Amino acid sequence: MRYGIFGDIHGNLEALEAVLFDMQEQGVTHPLCLGDVVGYGADPVACLDWVQQLNCPVIKGNHDEEASNDKSLEHFSERAAVAMKWTREQLSPEQRKFLRELRYRRQMDSFILVHASLDSPGQWGYVNNALEASASFNYQTDQLCFIGHTHVPKFFIRNAEVKEEVFSQFSLEPKCKYLVNVGSVGQPRDGDWRASYAIYDEESRVIVLRRVPYDVATAQAKIITAGLPKSLADRLAGGL
Ligand code: ZN
Repeated sequence: MRYGIFGDIHGNLEALEAVLFDMQEQGVTHPLCLGDVVGYGADPVACLDWVQQLNCPVIKGNHDEEASNDKSLEHFSERAAVAMKWTREQLSPEQRKFLRELRYRRQMDSFILVHASLDSPGQWGYVNNALEASASFNYQTDQLCFIGHTHVPKFFIRNAEVKEEVFSQFSLEPKCKYLVNVGSVGQPRDGDWRASYAIYDEESRVIVLRRVPYDVATAQAKIITAGLPKSLADRLAGGL
């Protein structure tokens, strides 16, 4: 099996379509979605349609949760709150129900999927460093876990201690545990504007990070046309 693990799409249809095309070209047999399908971008409905059509495992991100309820947005930044209010208005009741019913984590045959951290998944803590990764590793029974949420691709390896590595490709070593952040499809924040996702080849036990160019200008123009904050469009070009 060749898994394509992708998430943090954030309503960016141009980025999602580029990633789905790349997965097909790369021979991915099993797509897996790490959540945050919506929020920030101008195409929440179309992105969710795509993800539902894939009929693949999907787990819940914090933006999916917020888009599916009517709770106050006061803990969001101003631009995120404006985008979330708008996103709630775009989605159909059925789509919001779909998002509401997603699970926080998903156990696959030999690995785990969670949006933010295995340490209290519904609290949406960030795994930015080895200390925060250690907290998640405490709850990781399998060798391998995939996460998103920070929008910064990297992996953490636990052997005697926990270390952090950036990667383009690596092989799983026996006796080590791995927490792999696959980056973001629709709003990368590591200074590289290209969409990010990972391929896990179960047979060779190799994980490859893919960076996929997409039509940023169109995604930006749609954000402006929708009346969403301009800074949400600007940040896409710098991957920040
Ligand atoms: Zn996100």
